Amino acid sequence: MISKPWAALAAAAALWSFGVSAQNRPAPPATPRIYIFDNGSIKGLDPALFNFKREELKEVDFTDISYLIVHPRGTLMFDSGEIADSKFKDGQPVTEGVMSASKPLLPQLAAAGYRPADINYFALSHYHGDHTGNANEFAGATWIVQKAERDFMFGPIPQGTIITVDSFIKLKDAKTKVLNNENYDVFGDGTVVLMSAPGHTPGHQVLAVKLAHRGLVVLAGDLYHYPEERTTGRTPSFEFNAEQSKASRAKIEQFVKDNHGELWIEHDIATHAALPRSPKYVD
Ligand SMILES: [Zn+2]
Repeated sequence: MISKPWAALAAAAALWSFGVSAQNRPAPPATPRIYIFDNGSIKGLDPALFNFKREELKEVDFTDISYLIVHPRGTLMFDSGEIADSKFKDGQPVTEGVMSASKPLLPQLAAAGYRPADINYFALSHYHGDHTGNANEFAGATWIVQKAERDFMFGPIPQGTIITVDSFIKLKDAKTKVLNNENYDVFGDGTVVLMSAPGHTPGHQVLAVKLAHRGLVVLAGDLYHYPEERTTGRTPSFEFNAEQSKASRAKIEQFVKDNHGELWIEHDIATHAALPRSPKYVD
């Protein structure tokens, strides 16, 4: 009489653990991978905001991208799109001002085999609203942030332009690794390194990923918005500190050159048109 419920429970437990393991995240890869997610576009921008005339730019519109890095020792989500998944109703595209998106983020993450609960680390290139859309989803991860950026986001009065505090409010109580204008080797083997690159915002950072096959890729966040900024040295009109931006650009460009790497401008349509989307990956 007593053994029967226990047997049923044991069977249920076995089934449960089987179910869980069947849904568990994929086995860790042997070398790092970058998964790329489409988070929409930004249209109707005035090139003057970036100190350009229309005819000086090949493409004015932005794409909006986020990335998942899967490393043998864990996972890191870098940026989180521009529109919260909760705003998508009935599969319809969502438009908010200049931002629009047709696909929520989490189904794209699931296509790669991961849920937010599977993400070990979360980092933003910076706090602007077109990067923090789904930041709250990753508050269960360890948030890696520069002190100057966090102070801006959660100061007595959140400061700065393009800030949407609601979109990242849950990060306030997340387990947090605070950096002081320094680089951070996320998995300890030098293959995934957050690099301090302030200027666009006080604690802007880029992510350097050393891939076994492709080589070094720097996910540049908004170090630049347009490829033409790289060739002309111009900075946007709304930089937190344009001189800092120039110094950060010089440092990162030298790093890319020294390592024969690639630099992916997060908003650049042409760069990302040539790259695969989740569940495909770059490694
Ligand atoms: Zn941006």
